Amino acid sequence: MTASSVKTSAAGYPRIGYDREWKKALEQYWAKKISAQELEQELDKIELQRLTKMQQAGLDYIPVNDYSWYDHVLDMTTMFGLIPSRYSYEGGEVSPDLMFALARGTQDAVACEMTKWFNTNYHYIVPEWEGRAPQLTSNRPLQAYRKAKLQLGIEGKPVIIGPYTYVRSLKGVPAGERLQVLKQFIGVYSDILRELEAEGVPCVQLDEPAFVLAMKPEDWQAVQSVYEQLRIAAPTLPLWVQTYFDAVSDYEAFVQLPVNTLGLDFVHGKASNEAALRKSGFPQDKTLALGVIDGRNIWRTDLQEVAEWLESVASIVPKERWIVQPSCSLLHVPLTATRETELPEVIREALAFADEKLEETVQLARHIAQPSEATRAALNDSAARVLSWRNEPSRQRADIVEALHELLEEEKAKGIKRTPYEERRVLHSKRWPELPLLPTTTIGSMPQTADIRRARLRYRKGEWDARTYEAFLEEEMTRWIRIQEDIGIDVLVHGEFERTDMVEYFGEKLDGFAFTKFGWVQSYGSRCVKPPVLYGDVAFTEPMTVKETAFAQSLTAQPVKGMLTGPVTILNWSFVRNDVPREQAAFQLAYALRQEIAALEQAGIGMIQVDEPAVKEGMPLKAEDASYYTEWAVLAFRLATCGAEPKTQIHTHMCYCDFSDMVDTIRKMDADVISLETARSGGDMIATLEKQHYELGIGLGVYDIHSPRVPSVEEMEQLIEQALAVLPVESFWINPDCGLKTRHEPETVAALRHMVEATKRVRQQR
Ligand code: GLN
Ligand code: ZN
Repeated sequence: MTASSVKTSAAGYPRIGYDREWKKALEQYWAKKISAQELEQELDKIELQRLTKMQQAGLDYIPVNDYSWYDHVLDMTTMFGLIPSRYSYEGGEVSPDLMFALARGTQDAVACEMTKWFNTNYHYIVPEWEGRAPQLTSNRPLQAYRKAKLQLGIEGKPVIIGPYTYVRSLKGVPAGERLQVLKQFIGVYSDILRELEAEGVPCVQLDEPAFVLAMKPEDWQAVQSVYEQLRIAAPTLPLWVQTYFDAVSDYEAFVQLPVNTLGLDFVHGKASNEAALRKSGFPQDKTLALGVIDGRNIWRTDLQEVAEWLESVASIVPKERWIVQPSCSLLHVPLTATRETELPEVIREALAFADEKLEETVQLARHIAQPSEATRAALNDSAARVLSWRNEPSRQRADIVEALHELLEEEKAKGIKRTPYEERRVLHSKRWPELPLLPTTTIGSMPQTADIRRARLRYRKGEWDARTYEAFLEEEMTRWIRIQEDIGIDVLVHGEFERTDMVEYFGEKLDGFAFTKFGWVQSYGSRCVKPPVLYGDVAFTEPMTVKETAFAQSLTAQPVKGMLTGPVTILNWSFVRNDVPREQAAFQLAYALRQEIAALEQAGIGMIQVDEPAVKEGMPLKAEDASYYTEWAVLAFRLATCGAEPKTQIHTHMCYCDFSDMVDTIRKMDADVISLETARSGGDMIATLEKQHYELGIGLGVYDIHSPRVPSVEEMEQLIEQALAVLPVESFWINPDCGLKTRHEPETVAALRHMVEATKRVRQQR
C-alpha cells in the first residue's frame, strides 16, 4: 500500500442540478407540459451530470441512489411496496405517478404526511405502517449502480437508508412494537444486499442517522442482531454504516456492528464522538469514515486545523483505514460558490458549497496521505482565508452589540414578558368586538402567480421603476382584499406578493445578510429554498413591511394582520456565521423585528403574526442539549414581541412537524394565537394541547395547502367539530395549515370558500 491511500467519499450530493433543472422538469411534468419519457430523459441527464462531477472531483467512493425523483425516504417506501391502502395499488413495481401521488395527494387520497429530516430543513414523505409486511418491488440501488457503471464506468457506492432509521421514521407503529416491526424488514434488506453482492458492488452505505437519537439498550441489541443477519445474507459485501447530524448514541455498541466501515460525524457531535473514539479506541478490522468537512453549512473549512486534528487520531486508527468526507450528505448545501460572482469578494472567498467541499475533502486527503509543497500551500491558504474572514471588519457592528446588550439587561429585569394573556384577551375583544366566534383567517401568503414573479423580476432587473412595481403590488393587494372580503374571511392579509421568500425578504432589508444567486437547496419535493447568508451583525435599517400592510388595511374595514418572520426561523433558514454563538445572532434578529413591530403599531396595525415554522428543526437531536436551545429560542421570540402594546394581538404560526413535545415551549412563547397544521396529522395535536392545559388561542389549520386537492366543506367541518369536542370554542381560529403561495388561484378560492362555509355551519350549531 502506497502512502497515498487515504480515501475520500461523500455520503450524498445535491440532486437539483446547477440551474434547478430537476425542479423544472418535475413541475413541467406535473403540469402535463412534458411527457413521462421527457421527464425521465431530463432527470437521467442530471443524475449523470452529478456523477461526472463527483468523478472529476476525484472522490474514491461516489454515492449512487442518493439521487431521487422526489425524496429518498419515499423511494425506500415504494421499493418496499408500502403503499397506504387509500391508494389503489395491486403490487409490483411502483410507477413514478403513484410515487408522486403519495407525495402530493390526489383528489381521492390525501398525501402522506411530510416532516423534517432530523434537524434539517429537508422534508421527507413519512412512510405509513399498516401492518403489511414490506415486499421488494424493485432494487433501486442496484439499478442506480448499473446505470452509473454502464454509462460512465463509475463503480458507485449504493446508498440506502438503514433498517433502523427507516423503521423509526414509520408512522403508525404501535407503541412498544418498533423492534418487532424492525425484524420484518430483515428479509427485504437481505434481498437488496444479496443482489448487490452478486453484482459485485464495491460497498453499500446504509445511512443510520437515527443512531444519534436516544436509543435503549434493547434497540442496540435489536440493531446488532439485524446487522448480523444482513451480514449473513451478504457475507462478502462490504457494508458501511453511516451516521450523521450528531454523535452516535452508543459508540461501543456502534463499533461492534458486524460491518466493514463505520461513518461518524466529526463536525456536529464532534466532542462526544471524539471522546468516545479516544476512550474506547476503534476496531482493528474496520475502516473509519471521518466526516470532517461541515456538510450543513457553507463556510470554508480551515483545512490546516482539520489536518492537525486528524493527525491526532492517527494513533487510534491508522490512516490506511481512513475515509475522509463531508459530515453528511451535501444535499443540504447549494452546488457551487464559483458562480456567485455578484457577491462582494470577501464573502465569496469565504464560501464553500458542495463542489468546493468535495475539493476540500480531496485536498485534505492528499495532504494527509502525502504532504508536499503544494498540499502544504493549499492548507496554509485555507487557514489564512478563514482567519481573515473571522476578522473581517464589515462583519462587526459595535453599536448594535452595545444597544442590544442594554435592551437585554433592561428586559431581563422585567422577565422579558408581556402583560398577562387574560388581560390582553380582554383588551383584544374590546378592540375587535365584531369578530365572530371561530374567526377565520389565512397564514399570510396568497398564490404567487407567474405574473407576480415576473413583476418582481422586472423590478429587480430595472425594467420597471419603483412606481410601476408598487402600482402592480397595490393592484394585486386590492384584488385579494376584495376576494377575501367576498369569501367572507374575518381577518385579512395583504398577501405577501412582494416576497420571494419569507426569510430572504427580511434578510434583504436588514444589514448583516448577503444573498446568493444560485444557492438553492431542496426543501421538499420540487421545492427549493435559497437561504440567505447571515454573515455579520444584524441591524434594522428601515421599516420592512409597513407600506404594504398599511396599504392593505386602508382598503378595508376588516382587520388586516401584519406578517413577519420570527427570529428563530430567520436564523434556522439562513446559513449562519459560525464565528459567534447562534443565540447571539438570534437576539440580534429579535431586536430588529422588535423595531418592525413598533413601526407596524405606529401605522395602526393591531394584529401581527410572527411566523416561527422553523423552531423545531433547530432543536438539537440530543435531549440533553434541547433545553438550552428552547430557552434561547423562546427568549428570542419574546424579545421580538414583548415590546408590543398589550392591545396588540400577536399571532404566530408553525407547521409540518410533530409539535407534541413542544407545548411547553409554545406556551412560553406567549403568542395570543398560534396557528398549527392539523389537516395532515388529524386531531392529535389538539388532544395534546388539551392534555397540557394550553390556554392561549389556537388557529386550526383545517386544510393541507401542499396539495392541489380542494377539501370538502364536510371534511373541514368535521375537523373543526373534532377540535371543539376537546377544547372550548373560544380558543379557536380557523385557517389553512400554511401560506397559500404555492397554490393556484381557483383552487385557493374554492378551498377558502369551503373553509368559511364549514366555519359558518359550525357556528350555527353553537
Ligand atoms: N406567512 C407565511 C406564508 O403564508 C408562512 C409560511 C410558512 O409557515 N412556511 O407564506
Ligand atoms: Zn407554515
